[in-house]
Amino acid sequence: TDGRGVYRIYSPEMGSNMRRYHYLLDEMRIAIDSSNFFLTFQPIINIDDCGISYFEALVRWQHPVEGTITPDEFIPIAEDSTLILELGDWILEEACRQMAAWYSAGMKKARISVNVSAIQVKHKPLYDWVMDTLSKTGLPVCALMLEITESCFISAPDELFDELKKLQAQGVMIAIDDFGTGFSSLSVLANLPVDVLKIDKLFVSEAVQNSKYSKILHSIVDMAEKLELKVVAEGIEQVEQLELLKSIGVKNIQGYLISRPQRSAYVGEKIFEQGV
Ligand code: C2E
Ligand code: CA
Ligand code: CA
Ligand code: CA
Repeated sequence: TDGRGVYRIYSPEMGSNMRRYHYLLDEMRIAIDSSNFFLTFQPIINIDDCGISYFEALVRWQHPVEGTITPDEFIPIAEDSTLILELGDWILEEACRQMAAWYSAGMKKARISVNVSAIQVKHKPLYDWVMDTLSKTGLPVCALMLEITESCFISAPDELFDELKKLQAQGVMIAIDDFGTGFSSLSVLANLPVDVLKIDKLFVSEAVQNSKYSKILHSIVDMAEKLELKVVAEGIEQVEQLELLKSIGVKNIQGYLISRPQRSAYVGEKIFEQGV
């Protein structure tokens, strides 16, 4: 059974999925020590002045045989083992180190935004981990944001809230990622230690054709304003989507229309070309 009491009929495809799973798990154990992971960075820009508000750090795995493997495939595998803890440590440190370099080069207004997995949140006292990494890398607290998925908050223990509050008090920003997909009740928001709502790309892609989605977006933006939360919309691919979000009052946007995630050297060049 699959654990929910549902019997599954064995198919050859399942066998090959399992093989791939275990293959990647074994390979990841090796890759963690051999610097086969790298970060890409995707800007989140302010609609009004086109300035960069944040860079989201997005991890990639450069496999010697398989080529680049995307996080949608390997993060869930890492989360089933303790590898996500090691990988997550590396990601936060690497992201802070890179941002610290851009920061000292003059990029003082943007923050680096780092995804934190539900498993990390469960296993680690966030405050000490984050503050230690900041001091190790020399990144000021005001240059960091953490992204935590909405579903993670729903099952969160009180300790998580306490840790996040302490980080917030120091000046670290907290974003709810994939907002709108976790079915949390909106009233819960009033008590969450968060600064930013990152609206899931599903809303962005649906809103253009489906007015129900654009109405929901409208009310999210209104509510966010009243609660003094910032809103980021992700997954903007088309000009129509951009125009709609603008008309709804979303101020910060992220998506292929603006830029794909890029390697740090490329981002660094752009920063210096455009001036900071
Ligand atoms: P996410 O945090 O929701 O990240 C946004 C994803 O949307 C990224 O995929 C990004 O490349 C992609 N994206 C950005 N703009 C567009 C667009 O205009 N259209 C479309 N279709 N997609 C867009 P990516 O990098 O493949 O990451 C997928 C997921 O893997 C992330 O979703 C996140 O859940 C996880 N992930 C990625 N990097 C990390 C990490 O460093 N740590 C952890 N814990 N999870 C990560
Ligand atoms: Ca994210
Ligand atoms: Ca997201
Ligand atoms: Ca996602």
